[in-house]
This record gives sequence, C-alpha cells and structure tokens, in this order.
Amino acid sequence: MSGIYLHIPFCRRACHYCDFHFSTSFKTYDGVVESILKELEHWSAAWHAPIQTIYFGGGTPSTLTKEDLGKILSVIREKFEVEPAAEITLEANPEDIHPSLLQAWKELGVNRLSMGVQSFFEDELLWMNRNHSAEKSKTSVKQAQDAGFENITIDLMYGLPVSSSTRWQENVESAIALNVPHLSAYALTVEERTALYHQIKKGELREPSEEEAHDQFIFLRRALLNAGFEHYEISNFAKPGWRSVHNGNYWNGVPYLGIGPGAHGYDGDVRRMNIANNAQYVNLIKREESWFETELLSVQDRFNELTMTHLRKAEGISLEEVQVRFGDDYKKHLMESAQSAIDKGWLEWKGDRLTLTEDGIFFADGITVDLMEA
Ligand code: SF4
Repeated sequence: MSGIYLHIPFCRRACHYCDFHFSTSFKTYDGVVESILKELEHWSAAWHAPIQTIYFGGGTPSTLTKEDLGKILSVIREKFEVEPAAEITLEANPEDIHPSLLQAWKELGVNRLSMGVQSFFEDELLWMNRNHSAEKSKTSVKQAQDAGFENITIDLMYGLPVSSSTRWQENVESAIALNVPHLSAYALTVEERTALYHQIKKGELREPSEEEAHDQFIFLRRALLNAGFEHYEISNFAKPGWRSVHNGNYWNGVPYLGIGPGAHGYDGDVRRMNIANNAQYVNLIKREESWFETELLSVQDRFNELTMTHLRKAEGISLEEVQVRFGDDYKKHLMESAQSAIDKGWLEWKGDRLTLTEDGIFFADGITVDLMEA
C-alpha cells in the first residue's frame, strides 16, 4: 500500500500568509507538467507497492487544465498499480470551480475535493489576498455536490487579527451549513518571507493573538463535535467514515512518492525532497541530473517522526507500538518524558495510548518537542 503526492506549484495570486512553494508566473507551466510526467515514469520502474491514494496539492492544482490532469492520471494508471477504489483528491480554489470542469474531474476519476474556503467574510478574504469571494465558495461547494461529489473537505483559517470571536462563530456555522463531511482548520501563523510578516514588522498589523486563536479553536472543536464530526487529528475533523485516507497513511508512515517541484516523498527508509524551484526542476529533469536530495532516517528520526505524527491523532501514541518498533529504552523515554505534560493536564493515558487532552491540543508542538529523543 502506498500513495502519490503531486505538487502543482502555481497560484493565480499570492495569499499574504503563505510560504508554500508556488509561483504566480505560469511561464514554466508546460515544462513543469512535462517534467511531472517524466518524473512519474522515472520512479514507476522501482515502485511496486499498490497505490491506494493520489493527492494533487500545491500551490493550486485546479490551475491544471483538464487535459493535463488527464495526462498525469493516465500515466499513473499506466505505470503504477492503482487500486480500483483509490482515493483521488484534488485541492481546488473555489474561484476555479464551474460545472463543466467538475464533470471533467469526475470523469477523470477524481473522487475527493479539497477547497480552500478560509473564511465566509469578504473583508477577511481580501485581507488574506485570496482570489475568491465568500459567495463563490458557497456556490462552488453546492455545484460540486450537485455534480455528485460527496467527499468534500473545506479549509478554514482561525486566529486572524482582523477577525473576532463572533465572526469566527459565524464562519463555523456557515461551514457546518454546507453539509460537507470533512473540515480542516489551521491557525494563522506568521512565516518569514510572507507579506503578512512584513506588514507586522512595519507595525501595520498586530500579531495574531494566541489567546484568541485558542478560544476560536475550542469553539470550533465543540461546535463540530456537536454537529457529528470526529476530531481525528489536531487540524482535521470528519463525519464517521469520511477521514482522509491519504493524510491518514502519511501520519501512519505509509510510503508515498512525492512528485513535482518542492514535493517530499518517503519510501519507508529514505525521505526525498525535490528542488523547490520550478525552472530548476524542469532543467534538471531535462538534463537528467539529480533534482532531489535524500535523507536516510535513523532509528531516532523515526521515533521522533512517530511521536510528531501520532500525537496529533485522536488515537495518540501506542506504547506497545513504540516498544515493538523501537525497544524498551524508547518506551521508557516516552513514559518519563510525558510525565510533566500529564501533570499539567495536557496529556493522558487511555489504556496503552498517550493522547492529548482538550487543553493539551493547543500546546501540541511544544509537548512533541519534549517527547522527542534529542
Ligand atoms: S492558494 Fe494556497 S498555495 Fe497558493 S498562495 Fe494561497 S495559500 Fe498559498
């Protein structure tokens, strides 16, 4: 079992908070698509695990023409063993969505849509520099549902300095009213190299408040639990049966190929990072020179990665799994290093599983660092 992640590194506009790898210039578009096809062919010879999930992320994958999306999926189906019921996700900007494109995606086998809604307030979307309106998000979700897409997830962003608790509550209510089975929510973070960072540095904007973000997150969690969602990973909520298979596999250490500029992959032993530069990616693949770096994960790296990914899940970290995979010393380390967060009420044991409490969810990053083996 394995997956394929494809990074489509183009966006029509740069969101002010974003530090993902993308370009708003489409000059390299044809070259990137061609190189993605070559990269798929390159890795297919040595990749024998059946493909359970295909995920188009970015960037903005809905900038792909339906012809290019079709070419990529054809090569994947021709060169890899794709399971008949594979989950095929496409991240889509609401602005790109219209009924004929939805129909084309459906015919190509896309069966899960991820929409970057972020907010239902026009001024917040403008502030983020998103290129869609709140109304368009609602229409796009409805059009996708009418086109027969059941498996839809939307992204929301909380902790915006220009928002308020009342507005956030309205956002959450609007999201629930869309009747989608999955929702991801991310706190606004200020990353260097973003317009947001520079606005804050110049004093034009206040920094996001951690306290507000915390309160908004707790409101979201409780509202979604009441609406029948499971909180199955820190940033992810799903109705029963609608969890993301691709992300679930990623958190469980299932191997996946990372294709495209800036993509990361993992084959079970080695992590591979593609060059995050569109022109260089195209040129290196054309010249058949190496376009990626690799990192062989040590036992300690794997333990730390398990800690980081499993603690984020509702099921938490299984002590038995740690003992079987890493031995008694790591089991002892985990039990001892968890104690201080347990004493603060941030972690608890549920049987043999170490899980975050509701209070601990917001401190997960710091707790993870404490649990890691230095
Ligand atoms: S659409 Fe997504 S990837 Fe593109 S700039 Fe906005 S947040 Fe970043």
